[in-house]
Amino acid sequence: MAFLRGAAFLKSVASLEQAPASAGEIAFAGRSNSGKSSAIKALSGRKLAMVSRTPGRTRLINYYALGAERFIVDLPGYGYARVPTAVRAPWEELLGGYLRTRAPLRGLAVVMDVRHPVTELDRRLLLWFRPTGKPVHVLLTKADKLSREAAVQTLRRVQSELAELVPGTSVQLFSSLKKTGLDEAAAVLLAWLAPDQMKTPGGTGGLEIKAPGLKGEISPGQNALRFKAPRSGRRSGRRPKPSTA
Ligand code: GDP
Repeated sequence: MAFLRGAAFLKSVASLEQAPASAGEIAFAGRSNSGKSSAIKALSGRKLAMVSRTPGRTRLINYYALGAERFIVDLPGYGYARVPTAVRAPWEELLGGYLRTRAPLRGLAVVMDVRHPVTELDRRLLLWFRPTGKPVHVLLTKADKLSREAAVQTLRRVQSELAELVPGTSVQLFSSLKKTGLDEAAAVLLAWLAPDQMKTPGGTGGLEIKAPGLKGEISPGQNALRFKAPRSGRRSGRRPKPSTA
């Protein structure tokens, strides 16, 4: 199932003010080189013309339109070891501000290389996102690089690790190369975009969940995300529970 079929690049945004009016969107995050672009492409059935991978573009938030004011959002990859702080700061701010304050965001797909899952930066991202109460689905991609047995072992390990870190998170094996796990991913992500998930149809609001413990919305100008775990806060428990296959 190529659920992103027909998706078309709309624009790259450097601040949340530039984001389009949206009735619902799903964001993809992941370490650089985790396989995020390949996963989005595989889910789009190879039809998606992605933006060029120049360093400038990869630090922006890239919007792909699915129609009916719904979007797939490709977030900047994180974990470039050699990026200087001066360059990294505004990009982390953009990413953090987006994750914590973007009301139409329905859920977050996190792409991890099955051989290196749940890195420190992945953990920080998940802890940062957790207070929103919105669902997370993890794609353990490049599963073709491991034997079936080793891949399933990793899946179980990651499932139990994330069950503690961000309860309710679903995890699956995926391979863009072998096209495995596409249907499972599509089922979870499509459910997030279903119209009945919307509380304010037709507007730019979508499903808005206020992050518990946040004093107010983080403006893009504030230090939104330094990839430090928030100090407090179990989730509100309102997370819809997708399948944990
Ligand atoms: P991104 O930086 O996270 O967008 O990562 P890419 O999608 O560009 O992938 C990084 C590298 O991993 C590329 O060389 C891809 O060809 C490779 N790759 C991505 N997905 C898979 C996969 O499912 N299987 C295998 N074997 N390689 C993959």
